[in-house]
Amino acid sequence: MFTHHRTQAIILDDKQVGEADRIFTFYTKDFGKITATGRSIRKGKSKLKMNTQLFSFSEIEFIQGRKNNTLTDAVLLSSFRKTKNNLAKLSLFYRIAETTLSFIKEQEKDEKIFNLLLETLQEVEEKNLSKEKLKIMWCAYTFRLLYFLGYKLYTKECMICEEKIEAECYFNPEGKGVVCPKCYPKNPTGIYIDDIKKVFLTNPNRCIKITKSYINNI
Ligand SMILES: [Zn+2]
Repeated sequence: MFTHHRTQAIILDDKQVGEADRIFTFYTKDFGKITATGRSIRKGKSKLKMNTQLFSFSEIEFIQGRKNNTLTDAVLLSSFRKTKNNLAKLSLFYRIAETTLSFIKEQEKDEKIFNLLLETLQEVEEKNLSKEKLKIMWCAYTFRLLYFLGYKLYTKECMICEEKIEAECYFNPEGKGVVCPKCYPKNPTGIYIDDIKKVFLTNPNRCIKITKSYINNI
């Protein structure tokens, strides 16, 4: 038996397979991360092809097979057209997709993550954002994603020397924490944050929450 499903989805990755097929990776509202094959999708100008461009937000229909899912329909809800014409914004979309796919391995429904992803993409699309603010948005997205996935992120102390972070620091997504300016040269990867208190709130359990007002004010 094959089951038909319909759900809202954001296309995070697509790969060509064989002559005419594509394998899509979606983050969906009702199923979390899924992959589905679009058969013969590269031939001609099919509706399916037009509505399944990378990073599109679409309502999709797929058949759940025993081993693979097959994409059967897609209705475009947003193509994020403005972002696709802006290199800095587009590269943020790539980073968001990469971060999401690297942390989420299994298929599991999580509407909080779906909403976070969709709202972040919509915000990038609609707002005028400097390069610096785009970096902070990625940082904020990553922190919130990790928080929803249950990681405890410590922002009170430097990951390396364990000294208290007063204001300035660097967010290191690989280490899932922050590094002080003194230790940063030892491993100079990360995003500069001028004041940790503007970006994060610390709750009594000492794990972090991004301050909503700060995100909204970017
Ligand atoms: Zn340090």
